[in-house]
Amino acid sequence: MKIYNTLTQKKEEFVPIEEGKVGIYVCGPTVYNYIHIGNARPAIVFDTLRRYFEYKGYQVNYVSNFTDVDDKIINKANEEGVHASEISERYIKEFRIDMEALNVKEASCHPKATEEIDDMIQMIETLIKKGHAYEKNGTVYYKTRSFKEYGKLSKKNIDDLEAGSRIAVSDEKEDPMDFVLWKPKKDGEPYWKSPWGDGRPGWHIECSVMSAKYLGDEIDIHAGGEDLIFPHHENEIAQSEAASGKTFARYWMHNAFLNIDNKKMSKSAGNFFTVRDICQQYPPQVVRFFMLNAHYRSPLNFSRELMEAASNSLTRIITSVGQLDFLLKAGTLKEGSQSLEEVELTKEVEELQKKFNNSMDDDLNTADAIAAIFEIVKLANTHCNGDSSEAFVQYMMDKITMLCDILGLIVRQEEELLDEDIENLIEERQMARKNRDFARADEIRDQLLNRGIVLEDTREGVRWKRV
Ligand code: AMP
Ligand code: ZN
Repeated sequence: MKIYNTLTQKKEEFVPIEEGKVGIYVCGPTVYNYIHIGNARPAIVFDTLRRYFEYKGYQVNYVSNFTDVDDKIINKANEEGVHASEISERYIKEFRIDMEALNVKEASCHPKATEEIDDMIQMIETLIKKGHAYEKNGTVYYKTRSFKEYGKLSKKNIDDLEAGSRIAVSDEKEDPMDFVLWKPKKDGEPYWKSPWGDGRPGWHIECSVMSAKYLGDEIDIHAGGEDLIFPHHENEIAQSEAASGKTFARYWMHNAFLNIDNKKMSKSAGNFFTVRDICQQYPPQVVRFFMLNAHYRSPLNFSRELMEAASNSLTRIITSVGQLDFLLKAGTLKEGSQSLEEVELTKEVEELQKKFNNSMDDDLNTADAIAAIFEIVKLANTHCNGDSSEAFVQYMMDKITMLCDILGLIVRQEEELLDEDIENLIEERQMARKNRDFARADEIRDQLLNRGIVLEDTREGVRWKRV
């Protein structure tokens, strides 16, 4: 498989550090709000990368962090008059609901920054010892110029950066390019004890620490949106490589941005959508399909027209699979082996599967991989009917659903929940609440939400509706 490596700016053959295994670290969200539709892009793209590696037989260790201490979280907590952890826990839960809806697999490990502070302190101490960091009045700075390769990922030159920097030179910093590893506590902010006084970590250090802790000093793939290349990933490299003396990540993958109606998404411009908003207008599978219809390194435009088009395309696959299901369930297909014509068709399908694989092997070209699925769907629509053999229809069904599954697309419609099943689940949820088993109660609510059923607790009891 070839992967475009931001570090070398070339497509390179992927060679894992350890045969049959791949370690991937994806920078995760800062949890202070519902995630927006742009944040869904890296989540979907890199989940698809993981699924493809798994299909190829790799054992994948997929680590993605939660940034659960940050200015935005603290500001929101102060606005609401609650502890910062209440905000982060709330939005981690909402994030998980969105991910489940988008069929993004749970990470192998989902560490939280606030639970890794001791290891961050240790790495900062190592950096100080090795002469790459220094402390001034309770703040620890990374000595950017001490890392000779600074700028190698973003292709920036440190002198140009300094000349163009608009940051006022603080009295404390030895150099304007130095960045914060640890900052002293302020009133109303969460803090931890450290050798430099009470305070909290800077943002970049968490990923260096969690990547090393859960995947090792040297990892296969580090990924995220392209806005993270500088300064976040550049600073991660400087921290990690200075501390360990090893190559931090072999391949760096970055997704391009998603824009709304060809404009940058922004709250003030009024073109800001959360995943939750969009999933109330379109099935989450359409969102996933829409994202994978473009190459991850191409900018992606989000508009109603394009979403409608994606919805129609996905419906073509779902309808075809539905027809195959219908033929199989009818129980009237020919038993026994495939006809000679069908055997020839399966050879064609095998070629199309190769086309799918070749596209995915070419730097995760999901757009071309989807085109190959459509060719198989076309064959199914033309050749599967009441005269087909059961073996052939089953083969076509398995092929289409298997390839869609690699992309995380669920195209086989589940049978709709009957009113009676819903009532039973609601009753179970009421019992769970009575027994103070809130985890189970929430689980049932989320399960129903994912099937398009919204619950409303009223004084007269629980009401439900389909959305
Ligand atoms: P944040 O919570 O802002 O750190 O973002 C989480 C992830 O979403 C990061 O990998 C970002 O690079 C990515 N991201 C943020 N905005 C967009 C966007 N408009 N399009 C694509 N990716 C984005
Ligand atoms: Zn990161």
